[in-house]
Amino acid sequence: MLIHNCHTHTFSSNSVPENLLPCGLVRFLARRRFLRRFARFLNRLNPLSSDDIFDRFATFLRIGSRPQKAIFKDLQNVYPAGTKFVVLSIDQAYRGAGNVPQPFEKQLEELEELKQIHGDVLLPFVFVDPRRNDVMSLALDCLENRGFAGIKLYSQYGYFPYDERLTELLKYAETHQIPIIPHAAAAFGDYRGSKAELWNLLNQCKLENIDLKAVIETLTKDYRRWGTIRQKICSFFGHPVQYLYLLNQYPNLKISFAHMGGNQDWSYYPPSKEEIEKYGNIVGEIKALLKTQENPQLLKEKLEAAFNLNWLFLIEQMMREYNNVYADISFTLSNPQFFPTLNNLLADNTLRSKILFGTDYYMVEVDTSEENFYSALRQGIGEENFRQIAETNPQVFLESRSRILA
Ligand SMILES: [Zn+2]
Repeated sequence: MLIHNCHTHTFSSNSVPENLLPCGLVRFLARRRFLRRFARFLNRLNPLSSDDIFDRFATFLRIGSRPQKAIFKDLQNVYPAGTKFVVLSIDQAYRGAGNVPQPFEKQLEELEELKQIHGDVLLPFVFVDPRRNDVMSLALDCLENRGFAGIKLYSQYGYFPYDERLTELLKYAETHQIPIIPHAAAAFGDYRGSKAELWNLLNQCKLENIDLKAVIETLTKDYRRWGTIRQKICSFFGHPVQYLYLLNQYPNLKISFAHMGGNQDWSYYPPSKEEIEKYGNIVGEIKALLKTQENPQLLKEKLEAAFNLNWLFLIEQMMREYNNVYADISFTLSNPQFFPTLNNLLADNTLRSKILFGTDYYMVEVDTSEENFYSALRQGIGEENFRQIAETNPQVFLESRSRILA
């Protein structure tokens, strides 16, 4: 079996903004040899926990303190030779969390060099934030000349996926079927700048007829979410509903929702019978209303209702509604409690061809080791299902049009 891990990272901790705690601490500790011993000591200090959380955190910090090359090597060592890896770059310079020590261009250069060494098994994705000066040229250069295979978005850092500065790039991606991976777990990353600037950014929302303030207020009270208020507010930027707007403009964009909604929403899946009855086709309804623009009042109601729904519930509907929408199970499925849910989803004929294997290496080290995640999952869903999500589906998702022509 030719395994594809469709969601990994190899950026070093010097690509993380300085004000991001615990990352400042991260850099301080990472340089110190006593880190492991210190972690063990902290574990012992916490007598109620049989958990090795500090140990795992120490491992996470240790991996991040190394160069990309070494981080990738460690990843490769977990899998059989020939395994392919989607490696997602990250640009956190505009999330209002302070200076990023390593320039983003340098991170891309390192990935490009790694790609030259490893060839086919490494599929780097270029991160796109419209606030970066001339991001369009940078991304196009990466895709056309530097061996990059796709685009990574993380809207929760403070921008909308349909930002006008991305128009040309999105058209290009649609034409050439370039795969796009947006962050799609509610209440994780966020924009850390001032409140005034945050509202300034939120007001760029193109869903003009919704009551923005009320929708965001609802998001901050969502019973499923356990993030900070700021994270809950920022989930608005990358909400699946925003992608309905995007897909209305570019219906053939090839998108894979990272984390498939995230563990917070997987814990509340499936929704209640009443919710399924009421909202079981809300994606199809919004899609039609956006297209015709014939009933703005009904569209407003449906959009506002959708913002309040379970992300997995919405993504599942989007995978049915759009041939070109996929989702990866990275991070989320590091919790074996969700294996039965995944098996159920994979038993569905349509969804079966849309789910992709990914782990979120090495972010997921704070939860479990790469090796444990991969082997537990493979065992938990069985060989046939694993082949489907790790080989069959990724081959379709990762094939871009230019390569088909070549
Ligand atoms: Zn990730």
